Amino acid sequence: MQLGCATSSLTFSHEKIMIISLKRDPWESDITIFFPTYDKARNALALALSPVVRALVDPDGALRDIRDLDSISFSDWFMSKGGTRASIQRMWDPVAYALGFIDCDNISARCMLTIFALFATKTEASLLRMLKACDVPGIKRLVPPQWRELDFFDNIYKLVGVPVVTVQLRYNGWVTELKDLERSRQLRQAAGLDNLLYTPDADFSCFADLALASPEDYYLEGQGSLLQCVLTPGDPYMPLPNDEIIKRVAKQVLALFPSSQGLEITWSSVVKIGQSLYREGPGKDPFRPDQKTPVKNFFLAGSYTKQDYIDSMEGATLSGRQASAYICDAGEDLVTLRKKLAAAESMALAGAAL
Ligand SMILES: Cc1cc2nc3c(=O)[nH]c(=O)nc-3n(C[C@H](O)[C@H](O)[C@H](O)COP(=O)(O)OP(=O)(O)OC[C@H]3O[C@@H](n4cnc5c(N)ncnc54)[C@H](O)[C@@H]3O)c2cc1C
Repeated sequence: MQLGCATSSLTFSHEKIMIISLKRDPWESDITIFFPTYDKARNALALALSPVVRALVDPDGALRDIRDLDSISFSDWFMSKGGTRASIQRMWDPVAYALGFIDCDNISARCMLTIFALFATKTEASLLRMLKACDVPGIKRLVPPQWRELDFFDNIYKLVGVPVVTVQLRYNGWVTELKDLERSRQLRQAAGLDNLLYTPDADFSCFADLALASPEDYYLEGQGSLLQCVLTPGDPYMPLPNDEIIKRVAKQVLALFPSSQGLEITWSSVVKIGQSLYREGPGKDPFRPDQKTPVKNFFLAGSYTKQDYIDSMEGATLSGRQASAYICDAGEDLVTLRKKLAAAESMALAGAAL
């Protein structure tokens, strides 16, 4: 596999890791992929036959084509275009795990291709960083049971969150420093791979050394790598105690970077989320609710709601924009409704006082 950095004489498992993006966030990456050479032509052909190419000249038309691919999995779509099982396992599964926390057999072609099309056409990354909304488990708790008589609300219960476990490991050296063993053992200066990394050979498909990739927040003087590993699917790890999870992840880190043998873990953290992103499987898109609901004064926002982006911060932003546009459009109706409600309330109060 070609890497974005020089390979080294140290014992780095260079067939096991790929650098996919030049930016650090899988949700806002340039889709710059270092293809495994054996499948380069087939991958290129499959993508050339996809709506991603149309997106370059006709983004709206491409998104319409992509929406029609919601009923099949990315694997089925990719193989129908001549892609191979080997490239799914070695390359696309880690990408799917990073984007949707599920593999290519379970993620919809719509979800994966939407992202590729947006990467191909959008030059700006995330436009807005923070948006508070409700998540899938939250909205299920908020909706009054009687509203479930309407398909619109009942459909939300068909969306299910994926469990995910995030593990952070701080080392007393630089785990991903491949060129110079001595540099990997000193603590005066950060060293190693400053990028988001993917691998098909560990339970964490997507990981990064945050001390390098995000030094302002995570580099600590006198300390080494802070590996963040996202375990997807998280199901098998959910019942395990934290020390067992840490032990397993550390073992897999060592298998990927044998030259880190002897480095010690000085700090660790495990965060388990039982229901994170909703499972963007084939056929699930129709169940995502619009921001405008059948209840006139009840609007939804959140990345699980209908918008042309995956469940991500970007998606949350888009959903918020769509929700605010609907609320503005409904302005007069909402004022009228408020007046009616206020009148009904004061009549009820007057009635109660009699
Ligand atoms: C481990 C992990 C890594 C991720 N990495 C990235 C990444 O690198 N880039 C990216 O773009 N996306 C990433 N995502 C996805 C991203 O975090 C979500 O898509 C995004 O946060 C969704 O935003 P949101 O505002 O829709 O919902 P959330 O950020 O989930 O916010 C929902 C809020 O609603 C609150 N809430 C729930 N129920 C109720 C209730 N009944 N009443 C009131 N409040 C309630 C919750 O407490 C929460 O604060 C990641 C997700 C996970 C789990």
